[in-house]
Amino acid sequence: MILICEAKATEAQINALQAKIEEAGLVVHRSDGVDHTILGVVGDRNRLDVEAVSMMPGVRDVVLVSTPFKLASREFHPEDTIVRVRESVLVGGTTVEVMAGPCAVENEEQIEMSARVAAADGARILRGGAFKPRSSPYSFQGMGIDGLKLLRQAADKYDLAVVTEVMTISQIEMVAEYADLLQVGARNMQNYPLLTALGHAGKPVLLKRGMSATIQEWLMSAEYILTEGNPDVILCERGIRTFETATRNTLDISAVPVVKHLSHLPVIVDPSHGVGNRRFVSAMARAAVAAGADGIMVEIHPNPDRALSDGPQSLTFEEFGLLMNRCRIIATTIGRRLGKAK
Ligand code: PEP
Ligand code: MN
Repeated sequence: MILICEAKATEAQINALQAKIEEAGLVVHRSDGVDHTILGVVGDRNRLDVEAVSMMPGVRDVVLVSTPFKLASREFHPEDTIVRVRESVLVGGTTVEVMAGPCAVENEEQIEMSARVAAADGARILRGGAFKPRSSPYSFQGMGIDGLKLLRQAADKYDLAVVTEVMTISQIEMVAEYADLLQVGARNMQNYPLLTALGHAGKPVLLKRGMSATIQEWLMSAEYILTEGNPDVILCERGIRTFETATRNTLDISAVPVVKHLSHLPVIVDPSHGVGNRRFVSAMARAAVAAGADGIMVEIHPNPDRALSDGPQSLTFEEFGLLMNRCRIIATTIGRRLGKAK
């Protein structure tokens, strides 16, 4: 339930409303807009006499949200949320931010070269997995803590922020020490204890869409993080499983405008996992920017044919440069900027 206060509602009236709702055992999240204060109410609304509350002084409107997510919804928070990943790296504003780097950190030279190229071409966030959720237990699982250190070192050298995946609750503290943005992978989108713990991590979270998740389920997962008190959630569309086998996944570009309509949270697109084939990555990155994505995440590698994971979908440095030039033209055309100014 969302309670919109009258523009002239007094502080005393708002406090009385809040007290009344909390007395019923529900939780209130207050949001002060330019004109109106909005109270987002979380909990079982059957415990509250909604009609009585709607008649209290200072109430303009009570919206019974049919969607089960509240804190993530546009009704609760009409303005776009801008997530600060680092001082000057904001996701959700006019700049379309670029996250680039290898699927996995493999060694010092590989991540250093990737960071140099990512930064030179305008990305402001370096990606690279240190803990990898591989479909096979026999595949390379990532370098762990050593990978985190190399990732941070390379990012610092080129003034980049770091995004990397955290797979378990026990890794959160360690990953948060080295990363600016904590990635939840598609396979963990419904790992609710992990999401709950990330609500207390003190760092922004990049929540990837599960490969069989509906948009509503995805937003409900964001809700788990938000309701624990962490407002900094960025959503990432990375393709879903369909009957189509020509691509690794089917990149749901329509998720961008749909999520932007339903939610105030920033949305980025990962075309690399979306299509799984480097031939199609640039076209889908352009489509993502054109559709209004707040960022893109792209896998690059100094030598994709020798990559320890996701080589087929990783771009060469040259291909990445071309992708950036083309996406920059589209961003400018729709009144935005792409990454760091060149
Ligand atoms: C990744 O970003 O490397 C990754 C494993 O992505 P996803 O969780 O979307 O498969
Ligand atoms: Mn990958």
